[in-house]
Amino acid sequence: MKVLIAEDDPVSRRVLEGFLTNWGYELVITQDGEEAWQALAQEDAPQLAILDWMMPRMDGLEVCRRVRERNAEPYVYILLLTAKSQKQDVVEGINAGADDYLSKPFDAGELQARLRAGRRILALQGALISARDALRFQATHDPLTGLWNRLAATDALRRELARARRRQSSVAVLLGDLDRFKTINDTYGHLAGDAALREVARRMRTNVRVYDTVARYGGEEFLFVLPDCDMEAALEQGERLRQAFDREPLDLPDARIPQTLSLGVASVDAKAEALAEEMLRVADQALYRAKERGRNRVEPASEAELARCLTLSPREGEARHRKRNGGRRSAA
Ligand SMILES: [Mg+2]
Repeated sequence: MKVLIAEDDPVSRRVLEGFLTNWGYELVITQDGEEAWQALAQEDAPQLAILDWMMPRMDGLEVCRRVRERNAEPYVYILLLTAKSQKQDVVEGINAGADDYLSKPFDAGELQARLRAGRRILALQGALISARDALRFQATHDPLTGLWNRLAATDALRRELARARRRQSSVAVLLGDLDRFKTINDTYGHLAGDAALREVARRMRTNVRVYDTVARYGGEEFLFVLPDCDMEAALEQGERLRQAFDREPLDLPDARIPQTLSLGVASVDAKAEALAEEMLRVADQALYRAKERGRNRVEPASEAELARCLTLSPREGEARHRKRNGGRRSAA
């Protein structure tokens, strides 16, 4: 475990260095607060810091304050070391963000015990962070395929629509459905069905751009959110995906199974405000047509359907209002 030492007094520094090296810690040694602050701002910085209070350029208290202000992860556990020992100083140190406090001259056994306490806190903190990250992943991903889930993809679509509006670009969605997928489950069993879905997800991921969002939208339904993608490009992308399945059967452990994909496509040029829910609805209508017209097809949403996705932007509203009022600006 790496420990940062910040101590301006050479004798005290050497004593600390000796103990900590003996106890098996890896050390980053600094001689004042400024140096310590810079070392703590580095990537892969120590998570455990022993800071002297009184130091030139920047004192230990100020380092504490800055570390807490930055509020970055992972947490830095700070042990403040000082010749001051009155109660008021302890309060000031803890208030500045120190976790613990040790008066000089310190007892080696006490320092060792306090470092151990710090490591315990850091271990707990680390466990909490990984649990939180795991929960966050579970909340946004489909457990079977590892793709984004419906909620996360709908959020991504809203975000992309907002971004497209700012940059005057376009956003497309493709809604894909595996054709007659139920027969795989019926013929080969559910385990084969699961393996097939994982293989489908893998194939989808390798056939889109890195910044596209691929999600499992429902049982055998998949949603693609494609930023900066007009209808023409979206249809090409849809066709690429369709072919990726049509060309090659799914390679499963026990069988090679032909599997095709039908897709509905919608793209909006986000000059006006487009609604995510409406876009998904018209992509779904297009997908329905692809199914009706024989499956293994890519069908675009119609102009009329796409127009329904758009709501009026404030500027367009103003322009219409002006036209109606014979070129006069509205008061609003
Ligand atoms: Mg000092």
